[in-house]
Amino acid sequence: MTSRTLPVDDRIYQYVIDHSVREHPALAGLREATAAVPHSGMQIGPDQGQFMAMLVRLLGARRTIEIGTYTGYSALAVALALPPDGRVLACDISDEYTRVGRPFWRQAGVEHKIQLVLAPALKTLDERLAAGEAGAYDFAFIDADKSAYDDYYERCLQLVRPGGLIAFDNTLWSGLVARPAQDADTAALQALNDKLHRDERVEVALLTVGDGLTLARRRGG
Ligand code: SAM
Ligand code: CA
Repeated sequence: MTSRTLPVDDRIYQYVIDHSVREHPALAGLREATAAVPHSGMQIGPDQGQFMAMLVRLLGARRTIEIGTYTGYSALAVALALPPDGRVLACDISDEYTRVGRPFWRQAGVEHKIQLVLAPALKTLDERLAAGEAGAYDFAFIDADKSAYDDYYERCLQLVRPGGLIAFDNTLWSGLVARPAQDADTAALQALNDKLHRDERVEVALLTVGDGLTLARRRGG
């Protein structure tokens, strides 16, 4: 091995935050509000939110999908990066979690860009495909139940246009994917990582951002 990834301890991570993050006040407010919500560790970090916003701008994205919204931080980060007519189709099953985000979406002036659908995400995605929306999206962020990531992937691969991007969160799963799997979520993520590595339909990058962020660009376009 000629080059290794820098181990990111708290000190280095804080340096990254201090020297790159420019967080919109509504994002900062939502992050503070989320800290008081159960499972606040599920929220992506501000550095990742800013990175995803940059991806969305680089793509020139207008229509995006989010699978797993929680309190709405990642949806807000993406919505802020979209043009005025841009849209996030935000899929979640929890009113309790997602209601935390709405006042901050409103504060940021992007509430109209986020269409929240409270239903199992697979159902929502299948409905969009049945409605003829294949190829209509530029970007998808997959961050819900890990055992269904592959099902979400197959739907998103149809829903994003050629040249569109699918981002998968938690693909390193605290490093557990590099050890023999002891649980179903780890096994599902290992199988997905293996599949993506071989999948000729996409170009892939597995980044050591957050808890592992895999980017898969649909070939063509
Ligand atoms: N992307 C969010 C963020 O960065 O703040 C975090 C999302 S959190 C890790 C996962 C979310 O997926 C939870 O809010 C949960 O309610 C939702 N979820 C779990 N199973 C789901 C399903 N079958 N369909 C839609 N959402 C689901
Ligand atoms: Ca996540």
